[in-house]
Amino acid sequence: MTTTKVVLRFPPELSDQPVTYKLIKEYDLMVNILRGHITPQEEGMLVLELTGKKRQLDRGIHYLNKLGVETEKLSKDVRWLKDLCTHCAACTSLCPTHALSVERDTMLVSFEKARCIACEMCVTVCPYNAMEVQF
Ligand code: SF4
Ligand code: SF4
Repeated sequence: MTTTKVVLRFPPELSDQPVTYKLIKEYDLMVNILRGHITPQEEGMLVLELTGKKRQLDRGIHYLNKLGVETEKLSKDVRWLKDLCTHCAACTSLCPTHALSVERDTMLVSFEKARCIACEMCVTVCPYNAMEVQF
């Protein structure tokens, strides 16, 4: 079994396609939706964690691409170096998936790794180098 994280980008005309259903039913994949933003008639984005046999994963990705859905595998990982973080929150408004957020009660920043799509926005903006890319 192989597990991979994939970012899917949908053009507006495909935003109503039941792609997760098909990946499960026809390609025998386990699908974990990490993050999604799909609005009818607009571009959509889904971050999926896919688990299955390598061949089935490849076939599932091929199906998506053939349909017109752009796919990008997450081969990088972004790490939060908690000890360097000053909780300045400069990164939280830029993070597109809310992987970085401020807890209202404590005003402390937290990082939810499962939501991260490794876009590196936080890496660019953090003045304390508390976000790091790992290859
Ligand atoms: S790389 Fe940073 S900004 Fe991008 S999704 Fe991950 S935590 Fe958010
Ligand atoms: S920008 Fe850097 S220091 Fe500021 S909250 Fe984000 S990770 Fe922490």
